[in-house]
Amino acid sequence: MALDAMQSGSVEDPYFSPAHEMFRAQLRRFIDTEVKPRAAAWEEDGCVPRAVLRRMGELGFLGVRYSEQYGGSAMDTLATAVLAEELGRSTFGGFAITVLVHTDMASPHLANAGSASQQARWMPGIIDGSIITAVAVTEPDAGSDVAGMRTTARREGDSYVLNGTKMYITNGVHADLVFVAAKTDTSAKGSRGVSIFAVERGTPGFSVGRALHKQGWLSSDTAELVFENCVVPAAHRLGEENCGFYAIMRNFQNERIVLGAQAMGEAQAMLALTLEWVRGRRAFGATLWDKQAIRQRLAMRSAEIEAARRLVYHAAWLDTQGRDCVREVSQVKALCGELVNRVAYDCQQFHGGMGYMRESPIERMVRDARIQSIGGGATEVMLEEVAKRLPM
Ligand SMILES: Cc1cc2nc3c(=O)[nH]c(=O)nc-3n(C[C@H](O)[C@H](O)[C@H](O)COP(=O)(O)OP(=O)(O)OC[C@H]3O[C@@H](n4cnc5c(N)ncnc54)[C@H](O)[C@@H]3O)c2cc1C
Repeated sequence: MALDAMQSGSVEDPYFSPAHEMFRAQLRRFIDTEVKPRAAAWEEDGCVPRAVLRRMGELGFLGVRYSEQYGGSAMDTLATAVLAEELGRSTFGGFAITVLVHTDMASPHLANAGSASQQARWMPGIIDGSIITAVAVTEPDAGSDVAGMRTTARREGDSYVLNGTKMYITNGVHADLVFVAAKTDTSAKGSRGVSIFAVERGTPGFSVGRALHKQGWLSSDTAELVFENCVVPAAHRLGEENCGFYAIMRNFQNERIVLGAQAMGEAQAMLALTLEWVRGRRAFGATLWDKQAIRQRLAMRSAEIEAARRLVYHAAWLDTQGRDCVREVSQVKALCGELVNRVAYDCQQFHGGMGYMRESPIERMVRDARIQSIGGGATEVMLEEVAKRLPM
């Protein structure tokens, strides 16, 4: 079956308006013509070319949620889900995450907490793709437990002096602007005393410690970032001092919807590739599709994907209504992060030896999928958030 028929993004879907559907169709066209034919080379290069990101900016793909005042299209969380799902369907997870970290994990810090002058300075470039962003929260000794961060920002007159190391930062090598979480009150316990700073590339004392080599997401650059007596103007602090932890937690909601949608885009694409493969491949006098065990497994995976992507849409819709949806969003992240890996396993299995070959998209997608149950909230951490919110 053709990929498009499998992943209709279905026009009848009650969650989506014609504007969402038009956006989905534009994205799909862009991905088919400008991404899929070239993205294998980006995997080799270890990054997505800046010209591609600029082009996405020109086409309006980088400012979906942002104010029209700065060039955005002021759409809603469901549009974000469409963006992430379609990027996931590209089959290139590294490309998808490069874009999504910029649009939905890093720059929301500025959109949500930035002052008018901070937004006027950076938002137009973020939307047109001339400024690419990263977000630096994780540290070598603090990942799931954000409150354990050690990077400090000491106030000195009109500046803050940052010291510390950030780890696994997506877009870290090439970003122009990094939103960095640091402790502004080291005596505060736990999550209190954290602030967020916008740090521009080239700021003295800020450097890329090293580029990190990963199992998958090869076209996404990932770095360790070092801050050594890095002086940042106080005017670059986003929001209130010591309130950064709440900003991080708020942004995690959007990030997790996005990661869930991306994962379900990937799962749909893997399933479609595998259906095509098993219908053509013959063994023991018939196609693989003729084996009941194989088609039933794929049928069950299709049902799971369908259910999970509808949970993504529902969580995104709850968010558009301003409803508390921490439980649903955590369910999305836990479920989709695990499911994309189950789908990847089965799809590789039914591709046989070809699924293990570098020339097969499934091989790349298996590697890309692995991080989905770890990054942006590991499954176990998400399940704790769900468990706390289950009725007693
Ligand atoms: C490719 C990649 C890109 C990333 N991009 C970014 C980025 O751009 N910015 C950024 O700030 N961070 C980024 N991260 C960091 C990512 O979000 C963290 O790796 C993730 O939150 C897990 O943290 P950790 O690696 O320190 O694992 P740990 O916190 O050490 O946890 C290890 C494992 O222990 C288990 N675990 C942890 N806590 C619990 C618990 N309470 N109960 C049960 N089990 C538990 C989980 O299985 C978890 O995977 C990225 C990571 C990767 C690998």
